[in-house]
Formats: sequence, C-alpha cells, structure tokens
Amino acid sequence: MIPFNKPHLTGKEAHYMYQAVYNGKLSGNGEFTKRCQRWFEQRYGFRKTLLATSGTDALEMCAMLCDLKPGDEVIIPSYTFVSTALAFLREGAKVVFADSMKRNPNIDAELLESLITSRTRVIAPVHYAGVACDMDAIMAVAEKHNLLVVEDAAQAIDSYYQSPITNHQSPLGSIGHLAAFSFHETKNITAGGEGGLLVVNDERFVRRAEILWEKGTNRAEFFRGEVNKYGWVDMGSSFLPSEVNAAFLWAQLENLDDIQAKRRALWETYYKQLAPLAEQGHFSMPDLPDYATNNAHMFYLVFPDYEKRTAFIKYLKEHGVGAVFHYLSLHSSEYYHTRHDGRALPECDRYADCLVRLPLFYDLSLDEVAYITNTIREFYAA
Ligand SMILES: *Cc1c(COP(=O)(O)O)cnc(C)c1O
Repeated sequence: MIPFNKPHLTGKEAHYMYQAVYNGKLSGNGEFTKRCQRWFEQRYGFRKTLLATSGTDALEMCAMLCDLKPGDEVIIPSYTFVSTALAFLREGAKVVFADSMKRNPNIDAELLESLITSRTRVIAPVHYAGVACDMDAIMAVAEKHNLLVVEDAAQAIDSYYQSPITNHQSPLGSIGHLAAFSFHETKNITAGGEGGLLVVNDERFVRRAEILWEKGTNRAEFFRGEVNKYGWVDMGSSFLPSEVNAAFLWAQLENLDDIQAKRRALWETYYKQLAPLAEQGHFSMPDLPDYATNNAHMFYLVFPDYEKRTAFIKYLKEHGVGAVFHYLSLHSSEYYHTRHDGRALPECDRYADCLVRLPLFYDLSLDEVAYITNTIREFYAA
C-alpha cells in the first residue's frame, strides 16, 4: 500500500534531540526554540515569531490577541480544518462562514463586503494547499473596514504571494497582522508530530503575544533582563513546545530547501502525467493563480461529482494507493449547523464532495508516482 502520507526524517533529528536532552534544559524557550524562531524571522522577514505546540495553539494565540468581545464576528472560509473556527469560537466570537472560489478552495474575496457588519472584527483567510489567497483584495477590504487579518498559513510554509499591484513577492504569513503555521506530521515539515508557529507582523501585538505564550507572565522580559522580577500580568496558557520538539524542527528547517525541491518534483510529475486526463474532462487539476507560488504541500484533483470521486478513491484503494478526501463543510457540521445563518455555500460543498488528495510526501519515489498515475489511466481506460 502506498500510504497517503509518511513523515520524513532528514537524519539529524535524533542528533539534535540528544543535544537538547543533554543541554540540561528541556522546557520551552531554550536554545533550539530561539534558533528556530531566528531562522523564520531572518528567512521570511516576520516581525516576531513564537514556536507553539500546534498550529491550533498558534491560531488560538492569534484569536486571543484579537481581543474579541462577545458577539464580535469573524469571517472564515467554511472549507477548512476545524481549528480555524475553534480558535475564534473559544474567544466567544460568532463565526461567519464564507464560500470558496470557483477556481480553487480559497476564500472568495469578492464575497467579503457582503458579509461585513458593524460587529465584524477579523478576516481569517486560509491558504489552502499552500496556495495564496487573493491577499491584495482581502487586505483592501480589511483596511477599509478597520479589520484584523489572521492568516491561517498552516499549509503554507515557504510559499509566496506576488502582488499584481506592486509586483512585490511576500512570504505567506507575512501579510496579515497575525499568522499561524503548523508543523503537524502531515505538513511539509514537522516538529516531531505536532508543532506550530505564531507570527506577529503588527508591532502592537508583540509584547502581549510573548505574555500569552508564557502563561500570562512577563517571564520572557525577565530573562532578557528588561525587568528585575516577573509575575502574572495577563491571560495566557502553556503554548511553548518542549526543546525536544524544537530540536526536531531544527533538523527539518536545515533541510527545508531539499524537502521543498523533492516535493515540487513529485508535484510536477503528477501534474504532467495527469494533465491529459484533465483535458478530457475527467477531473480538474490544482489551480495556481498568477499571484501564487507552489509550495507543493498538496496534490489534489476535483471531480465532477460525489459518485465519481467515491469510485475513484475505491479503485485506487483496491490497487494499493491511499487517496483521501477532506473537509466536510463546517457550516453544515453537527456542531455548528444550528448556529450558521442558513446561507448556502455551494462551492464549499462542491469541494467537500468532489476533492481528492493523492499521496505526496518526501519519501515517495518517482516510480511510485508513475505507478499511481498509470493506475489512474487504467481506471479511465477500463
Ligand atoms: C493542519 C491545519 C491546522 C491545524 O494545525 P495542527 O498543527 O494540526 O493543530 C489548522 N488549519 C489548517 C488549514 C490546517 O491544515
């Protein structure tokens, strides 16, 4: 069976974890944590980064930093992982679900104006499959209505938005006021199974982010010698990962360019091999707008209907290939449907019914991709 995903080891993880263990400081905010954070800040120009125990936790910190009041509204796409919604719901906000675009599963920026009310505070776009949302449009709406933008960049490491207005290329996660990345084992790089990163781009949130991160204390300032004692100054929680996880992540960061090059080669092979079948109308291929780069997080296909997708997944499974679908529309979920305002979100439902993800991970071989694409050709020849 070719699995859908397999976490990749660069070879240095155990070495750095051993170092972390024998450094004698295992709790968070040690040498490896600082090394990882500096790396992100230098490579991508993020104003301030804090490692977190998961992408979900990083999103929760974003939501806490937005300082929402009961009844405040947050606009998020319905086609996303539950964490995007949960983070804001936990803060007492009302989640207003937006539909996806026709061309790809990202939030449809043209619909945003129609969803904004006097209570709207935040827009949280999700860069699905690491493909940029239409950030110029989203930031313009946010500026006009004085809203915060939280990028769910969980899938978007090392991916960019190229502004058609300024031609400037910005790393995803650097455009909104706040952003969250995930290092779960299903993402391009992992911190040993679970991990995340909070990105603070707006100076106003830097100090409070560090305090929330350090369980509501100003301990980080104390360790930098900026205050002579530390105490409880705000809300907070335990968002810091252990140094063991940071050490694991460091081994992956050192090899990011190699990981990305390999994933792109696999992605492009899929694309080339499957394009003729897409041209025959069997399914549509991943969509990359001119303003987006490809970080090869995911290779997905979109089928004409639910039955065709189901038959496709079944055939691949019978031939030893683990293809999966995902994201049931959050607006019609068991937990939230009674609180949703009843608007139909047809594009979101279409992706929930018709999208399939093919295996894509570092240790997948080009031979295996050839086997998978041949199997798909046979399915349509039969
Ligand atoms: C993976 C993911 C998350 C959650 O990240 P975890 O690290 O698993 O908590 C949130 N949003 C999106 C879009 C994701 O893909």
